[in-house]
Amino acid sequence: MSFYCAIARGHAHHGPYHDKEYGFPLKDDDELFGRLILEINQAGLSWLTILKKQESLRVAYSNFEISKVARYGERQRQRLLADEGIIRNRLKIDAVIHNAKVILQLQKQYGSFYKWLCLHHPLSKAEWVKLFKKTFRFTGGEITGEFLMSIGFLPGAHHADCPVYREILERKPKWLLCSEAMLPRQGSTGRQI
Ligand SMILES: [Zn+2]
Repeated sequence: MSFYCAIARGHAHHGPYHDKEYGFPLKDDDELFGRLILEINQAGLSWLTILKKQESLRVAYSNFEISKVARYGERQRQRLLADEGIIRNRLKIDAVIHNAKVILQLQKQYGSFYKWLCLHHPLSKAEWVKLFKKTFRFTGGEITGEFLMSIGFLPGAHHADCPVYREILERKPKWLLCSEAMLPRQGSTGRQI
């Protein structure tokens, strides 16, 4: 598989995501939720499709505000199903609304979604997937793994030779605290494009 860093750099859509977002530590709850929305929507589609729809998704899902999406009722559901700018998939839309409700509960119980993630860290990818499957909807191995890599909880987003890799290291991503045994081989994956 071609390596994400190599194809992304300089690309109109992949470039900005690769250079400024992918693998950078993210702490804001709404932005974390937004990233999860993007990953859920990717299932079965290319990441390029999602990047092209990123802004439409942000607008459609109330700027990724968890408290607003959690309150979506039937009228909002129908609006999303009719929105040609986003991914009109009933299961994905329902999962996003359901997950917003779950995250709202996590915020009440743990202070924030981010704190809940920190509380469980470090876990191996397999343990994270188990936890996400138990907690959320539409969060299989691929989606959970990509989500956690993209926010800095799991390593592997960038190749060690990539300039962004060093930039991210300076920001102390969570995966730096993982034990050696938990880490996948450095730079062995990279996201599907
Ligand atoms: Zn890179």
